[in-house]
Amino acid sequence: MPDDTIYEDLGVPSVVNATGTKTRIGGSRIRPEAVDAMNRAADAFVRLSDLQARASDLIADVTGAQAGYVTSGAAAALALGAAACIAGDDIGAMAQLPDTEGLPGEIVMARTHRTGYDHALRAAGARIVDVGTNDHHLGTGAQNVEPWEYADAITEDTAAVAYVQKPYTEPSLEAVCDVAHDHNVPVVVDAAAELPPVTNLEAFIDAGADLVAFSGGKAIRGPQTTGFLAGRAALVSSVAAQHLDMHAAEAVWEPPTTLVDPEALGGVPRQGIGRPMKVGKEELAGFIRALDAFKAEDHDARQREWRARSERIAATLDSVAGVRTSITAADKTAVAPELTVTVEAGSAGISATEVVGALRREEPRVFVGADDLPEAFTVNPMCLTDEETTYVDERIRAQFDA
Ligand SMILES: *Cc1c(COP(=O)(O)O)cnc(C)c1O
Repeated sequence: MPDDTIYEDLGVPSVVNATGTKTRIGGSRIRPEAVDAMNRAADAFVRLSDLQARASDLIADVTGAQAGYVTSGAAAALALGAAACIAGDDIGAMAQLPDTEGLPGEIVMARTHRTGYDHALRAAGARIVDVGTNDHHLGTGAQNVEPWEYADAITEDTAAVAYVQKPYTEPSLEAVCDVAHDHNVPVVVDAAAELPPVTNLEAFIDAGADLVAFSGGKAIRGPQTTGFLAGRAALVSSVAAQHLDMHAAEAVWEPPTTLVDPEALGGVPRQGIGRPMKVGKEELAGFIRALDAFKAEDHDARQREWRARSERIAATLDSVAGVRTSITAADKTAVAPELTVTVEAGSAGISATEVVGALRREEPRVFVGADDLPEAFTVNPMCLTDEETTYVDERIRAQFDA
């Protein structure tokens, strides 16, 4: 299995990825057309704002939003989205962030939508105001949060409502957008990993979201350090003004008007809060090609290929004592059909935790999903080739035979 990777050359063990698009092991396998675009981008210069304007047109086209912007990942998109909601087109406010004194610095979120990634919102200076309870999860009630609870938390200090999109998040995005818009507050959606289905490119904009953050390095298979925002033109302009390199002489500052309106800003902004999250010409060119290719892909064929890989491994493990397998039902598939392997350590002779640990210590390292430990591990087919599926199948089986 992979023994001629760049990582072996560097003396670092490579990984066979059976856990999906996880950043800590490199995300996804970038598309060849995106690599080609990056190589060509590396060899010539371009004004980044022109390339961002080109990307904005493509993002608008595939999402139905007014505009878009490429960031250094979905997390950076959240930070920049928060900065845009707080500062708007006020260049003084842009210069002040992350200090939000005197600015609307609060972002309202359902307590059950809080994740580690919302640190990105706080990085822009926002303070998160939690609403609702955890009733549904705990079984102490039917609802986690009611629309009126959002309304109650929105004040003149509110910059935005943030929403984490998952197939099961409550209340519906439509309901939350209705409440927020009644109070003239924008809604920022974290949909980083909600592709495929490809229809989700448009779904959250259709539902009323003002900014949606997606990852470019997950299923889109663009450069790993890309993500993007799709949304309202005014907010995207604010993002651009806070992200583009701004050592600009005003007399010759002519950014593309589809992206930044110098008249509305009334001057050249300072280097903004987004400047440490820069995106290079290589990432931009690679991302544009990858998003084009993702949109054009045969998504049904992809799902069938993924399911076949999960089924192959399930068939091998089903005969092992103490092991039970299940594959995400076709109608429940939000992203890829994943195999869950439940291990009863007593009869299997090894626990799920031991299997996962042993696989990670191999060379190459084999990464299966560890989120369901200690009872089960998962195998995600998204980042496996057929050859690697055979290898993973053998290596998992070997742990039980040892
Ligand atoms: C992956 C993920 C992110 C971060 O995306 P990057 O593109 O790696 O920055 C943010 N939010 C959620 C819910 C994610 O799954």
